[in-house]
Amino acid sequence: MAECSVCFRHCRIAEGQLGFCGGRIARNGRVEAFNYGRITSLALDPIEKKPLARFFPGSMILSVGSFGCNLRCPFCQNFEISWSEQARSFADTAETATPEELVVLALKTRNRVMFIIAFTYNEPLIGYEFVRDTARLAKAKGLKNVVVTNGTAEPAILEELGPVIDAMNIDLKGFTDRYYSEVLGGDRRQVMAFIEAAAAICHVELTTLVVPDENDSETEIRELSRWVSRLKNPDGEEIPLHLSRFFPRFHMQDRKATDVRTIYRLAEIARENLNYVYPGNC
Ligand code: SF4
Repeated sequence: MAECSVCFRHCRIAEGQLGFCGGRIARNGRVEAFNYGRITSLALDPIEKKPLARFFPGSMILSVGSFGCNLRCPFCQNFEISWSEQARSFADTAETATPEELVVLALKTRNRVMFIIAFTYNEPLIGYEFVRDTARLAKAKGLKNVVVTNGTAEPAILEELGPVIDAMNIDLKGFTDRYYSEVLGGDRRQVMAFIEAAAAICHVELTTLVVPDENDSETEIRELSRWVSRLKNPDGEEIPLHLSRFFPRFHMQDRKATDVRTIYRLAEIARENLNYVYPGNC
């Protein structure tokens, strides 16, 4: 058995087997990234789609995704590559790319005002080695690096990536321990600690997907935004908060999409504590 120390789960993995996330494997007595350089998604997006509202607005961003995830959100909007049966099949079918190839691609499209690479779509930090190696090369070429994460990696991973990551969008999926542990399979306190540590290292923005009857009360968003207001980004600016609409997907089809009016009302509540609040998917 080998222990993985990348995220809060600390999987103990038998030789040749995958960890809970499906992205790491035990080989020769140690755990390594099984999804290293395995690409399932590649797109040019406006940076606002990540979402990042206050980090080089107007830029295009080369977005790269692999497969696997260490949470179990039943409504996952990217379930095809995160934790479904289909996601597991990418172990055989995903394309491969080296860090060098990705950086060359990013440099080629630089003329279109794009100078940023985003590691996104699935949970990128379960394969942090590829993020690290690509981001190092990208930084050396004058590019910037963004990570879109669920904020569940251990502090050592954040420390290792810190010098090469310029911005992060981190999910703060709700503000109750029940929601994190019973619905998502995570740990809210650990995510909060990750956010605090990340905000000391790079530009951070947060996203809360507002799910009807789960995390859509005014009380919860008031408490969440009050906590966020205590944090600051490295430039001393307040941390932006994105409140996004849920759509029924994957294993959560028993309720309708979040009412747009709910998002705008909760955005007003969050603005009691924060200046930068952005409704999303509306
Ligand atoms: S990164 Fe994957 S293998 Fe490692 S502890 Fe987390 S879920 Fe387990």
